[in-house]
Amino acid sequence: MERERRLLWTAITGLAMVGYLLVPDSPALNGWLVTGYKTVFGCVAGGALVAGALTRRPRAMTGWLIFGVGIIANALGALVSDVYSKALGQAGYPNIADLFWLTLYPSLFLGLAVLIRARGTARDWASMVDALILASGLGLLSWVFLMVPVRSDHTLHTVGQVIVLAYPVGDIMVLVMLLHLVLSGGVRNASFWLVCASMGLFLAGDLSWATLSQLSLVTPDLVSRLLDLVFLLAYTTFAFAAWHPTVGALSRRGTVKPPRLSLPQLALLTAATMIAPTVLAFQVASGAVTNGVAIVIGSVASFGLVVARMTQLVRQVERQADELTALARRDPLTGLANRRAWFDDLPDALARSARSGEPVTVAMLDLDHFKAYNDGRGHQAGDQLLKGAASAWSGELRAVDHLARYGGEEFIVFLPGAGADRASEAIERLRAVTPNDQTFSAGLAVWDGLETSDELIGRADRALYAAKANGRNRTEVSGVEKAGRASSDRA
Ligand code: GH3
Ligand code: MG
Ligand code: MG
Repeated sequence: MERERRLLWTAITGLAMVGYLLVPDSPALNGWLVTGYKTVFGCVAGGALVAGALTRRPRAMTGWLIFGVGIIANALGALVSDVYSKALGQAGYPNIADLFWLTLYPSLFLGLAVLIRARGTARDWASMVDALILASGLGLLSWVFLMVPVRSDHTLHTVGQVIVLAYPVGDIMVLVMLLHLVLSGGVRNASFWLVCASMGLFLAGDLSWATLSQLSLVTPDLVSRLLDLVFLLAYTTFAFAAWHPTVGALSRRGTVKPPRLSLPQLALLTAATMIAPTVLAFQVASGAVTNGVAIVIGSVASFGLVVARMTQLVRQVERQADELTALARRDPLTGLANRRAWFDDLPDALARSARSGEPVTVAMLDLDHFKAYNDGRGHQAGDQLLKGAASAWSGELRAVDHLARYGGEEFIVFLPGAGADRASEAIERLRAVTPNDQTFSAGLAVWDGLETSDELIGRADRALYAAKANGRNRTEVSGVEKAGRASSDRA
């Protein structure tokens, strides 16, 4: 049903547009019929847009109402212009009609801003910078080819120049927002693409109009009507976007796309940064650099933006590298440091203890008969026990102690400032808080101040083996007399 209604409206608007090409004009009509036709067409489209938004009630409703106002004002421009020049007999360009036409730009800009905000992608700086890089290149082109000719048009007074220049400036502003919308993440559905198509048509229409009017080609009736058709199509597309069933999803909060540069995007950015040097090259080749200042400003802007983009990318890579490092050092089940992190940190920890002259002990813990626990209660219950034990032990240890998961159901603790006695006490505290009456065996080794970290761990491991052999649920200390000698050596 929805589909059929859409087809019906597409056919109706298509016919209405063809109708515009056929509207008669004669000296007697003096263009009034043509103006009336396109004004009514635009106002109906703008009204339909507002009605669509009020019916579908998307988030960011304000944005849609602003779009509607802009389109209706823009459509009224033609009528105001005719009333001004034909009915009131006023000459002069630009005039009051331009205010109506120009209303479109702030409304598109603001409406897009509201939409982007609702989509939650406004803070996607990468896409904003990309949009500005593209705009700075196109802005320079617009300056050289569209704005400078206006500025050197001495038939225009200053206010007139400002008004005429407002069009290309408005185009650039809308373009920045449109690129921001397209490049940042969020939902992309039919309504989204209809909005983009409409904006694209407005911009293309403006560009064609500016180009053709510079070549003095706008006057022939067919050309100007075909050009008007571009704007009528833009109005219509916008109204369709507001009525499309996907308009609600369009302004829903989306995930910000992780900034990544696709090949076409990279090519586009490269092309944009090449605009300033290319314009300069052409002007040098033609023998006169007429837009030197603009080229300098354009180059500085795009270099600055590229550096900003690069900085942002480098920061992102650094952040991700940090996240990866942190991930690679943590045991996912218990959240403890894993074996890799423990081995990385141990030499430094030993060096610190050597400097402080305090004893230091390494304890190796292995849950008793854990295979049976798993077999009896299931692997998930085993996992829960490992997690529970890790968290209970962490709570029992001092902040300076370092508990890590060595592998499977084996854990290792680094106890700085603790000799065999204090370390044994600490291990007994851990024994007391181990969940589900689970027992463990422990092997302790007090560092002798000379052996390598591997040798130290090897001794703790052998002490653990002895604890298992001697009946489990107990602690054995390795080489006490050796450690004692080391402590007295340092003392
Ligand atoms: P012992 O008292 O001699 O240490 O006996 P044990 O059963 O604890 O030792 P064994 O090395 O034979 O088995 C260790 C068991 O630990 C085997 C395995 O199922 C279990 N295990 C190792 N890692 C995990 C884990 O991540 N999750 C769970 N649920 N079980 C694990
Ligand atoms: Mg084991
Ligand atoms: Mg075990």
